[in-house]
Amino acid sequence: MDEKTFNNNDLMKSDCPVCGGHKTLSITNKTDNIPYFGDILETSVSCSECGYQSSDSISLEHNEPARFTLKINNTKLNTRVAKSQTATITIPHLGLKVEPGPKSDGYVSNVEGILNRFEEAVLRAIKLEGAEISKEVQDNALNIIELITKVKMGDMEVDLILEDPFGNSVIDDDDAQKELLTQEEADKLQTGFTTIDQ
Ligand SMILES: [Zn+2]
Repeated sequence: MDEKTFNNNDLMKSDCPVCGGHKTLSITNKTDNIPYFGDILETSVSCSECGYQSSDSISLEHNEPARFTLKINNTKLNTRVAKSQTATITIPHLGLKVEPGPKSDGYVSNVEGILNRFEEAVLRAIKLEGAEISKEVQDNALNIIELITKVKMGDMEVDLILEDPFGNSVIDDDDAQKELLTQEEADKLQTGFTTIDQ
């Protein structure tokens, strides 16, 4: 993500919705072109009076909604995965799913990186609950981590599924199956942000 190129940069002023300051809110629009993801519009606002800040991204690309499926094991750990902000990642065998939200990032990683993210999320969930955690939840979490380890060691093979209603995500592997999603399937996916019809 360090290869960002800014094509334009507009600065506007507006009234602040938080402190009500007159023309204290700077609005910046940036168009980014990100490898694999194409063009996105980033809008960020900041108030010089109260310090309020917010930012949002909108995909300007509208490729065909697509699903990639790849059987993963220890031989696929280095396979490149580009996940846009609008993508959903699922590993059905392990009951794992990550859906896009307002704060979700697009990133380019590999299969091992995706597995590590799931592992960290599971560990975080146990720690969050702290002392309140039930034996059942803990066992379930440890079981998932054990299964992820098995996949990494090559003792187990599971499907990795990447679905993107904007078609800006890729599992970059010759063995990955690409299917186009029907409109109905695409509509069911979360996108995580406002979309604009073109
Ligand atoms: Zn303000």
